[in-house]
Amino acid sequence: MTESPPPSPTSPGHVLALLRAVGPMTRLELQERVGLSRVTVVERLEVLRGLGLVRQAGYRESSGGRPAELLEVDDTGRTALVADLGQSHATLAVVDLRGTVFARDDHRLPARHSPNEIVPMLLDAGRKLLRRTGRAETLCAMALSVPGQIDHELGVTVAPPTMPDWNRVPLREPFADTLGVPVLLENDANALALGDYYALGRPDATLVGLKVGTGIGAGVVISGHIHRGESGSAGEIGHMRIEGSQQRCSCGRRGCVAASASGQALIRELRSIGARSVADVVRLVGAGRGDAVRATEHAGRLVGTVLATMVTIVNPRFVRVGGAVGVLPPFLDGLRRTVEANAHTHALRNLDIGPSQLGENGAFVGLAGLVADEMLSPATVDAMTAGRTPLPERSPNSRSGGA
Ligand SMILES: [Zn+2]
Repeated sequence: MTESPPPSPTSPGHVLALLRAVGPMTRLELQERVGLSRVTVVERLEVLRGLGLVRQAGYRESSGGRPAELLEVDDTGRTALVADLGQSHATLAVVDLRGTVFARDDHRLPARHSPNEIVPMLLDAGRKLLRRTGRAETLCAMALSVPGQIDHELGVTVAPPTMPDWNRVPLREPFADTLGVPVLLENDANALALGDYYALGRPDATLVGLKVGTGIGAGVVISGHIHRGESGSAGEIGHMRIEGSQQRCSCGRRGCVAASASGQALIRELRSIGARSVADVVRLVGAGRGDAVRATEHAGRLVGTVLATMVTIVNPRFVRVGGAVGVLPPFLDGLRRTVEANAHTHALRNLDIGPSQLGENGAFVGLAGLVADEMLSPATVDAMTAGRTPLPERSPNSRSGGA
């Protein structure tokens, strides 16, 4: 990825970035921060208001003089189509750049589904959803999360371990071509981790987001940036091997933690008492069925052993656990106790482990934030002010404007 030169520190895009980072400010406060003349700041704000990116957020009382107008970023006027695709489900939503969900649409998917049927289905459902909300005109981007790795340069999925038919499938192109907007791709656990990070108010801290649904994945957010790693596989803890296990995993190997502790593993284990889906596992645990509670707590302990290693290596401030299985109390109990028993003592200081607060909209909030970071970036905003529409085919996940 080639980085374009940084935008002028006094450009409209930069002024917007400052407003996003600091929060509501008066014109005078903004002027002092950027070190520009009053005339220039007023000019920049006019441009940003013209693009619908800045709005009034009330007034700041001042001693003596008139109350000063407070300005903030307007991230509500633009729309994103977001979608979370998994092994057994696809969920779409129409959101604003804060992650406010206007409409959502859930689809159960057949086992071993293929892109040939699912991509057109998602496109069709997405367009219907946009029409239903009446926000199609303000669509600025789409973001899609999938299990496994993503080649961000090419916009293709790479070997999702549980979705063999989705290996090296171009995903950016078909959506970008049809919708005419940039398309961002993200790993599903990364999207959830980002959602929890945004929900915490974007702290200057490290967060590990763990997702335990049908499969197991994790994402690492460091001061606002997802750490994807050299090949996009950072946080793929589901396929770390646990000592002494020979259980065959959906990735083809034996002994992965996902083979013994994922939703899929729990379905297998609880089949005799009626589990056929992750929803059944959730129901059985909710009903207090002893074997279901014990198996889920055991799964939490197994995942806890690998999470303890991750906590020791990464030393995060927050761990947020999401996914249908991850938020179950027995799972969380087993997980927390094992991490506390196994991670380095110093890594446990100030460590805050808790369930994801976002429920089933977690990935959407993360994806909306990704879209916001991309579409409200100085490079994109300055391209807009210069009347240049950023092209969907440039690498939309890079921080640059493409080369
Ligand atoms: Zn595996």
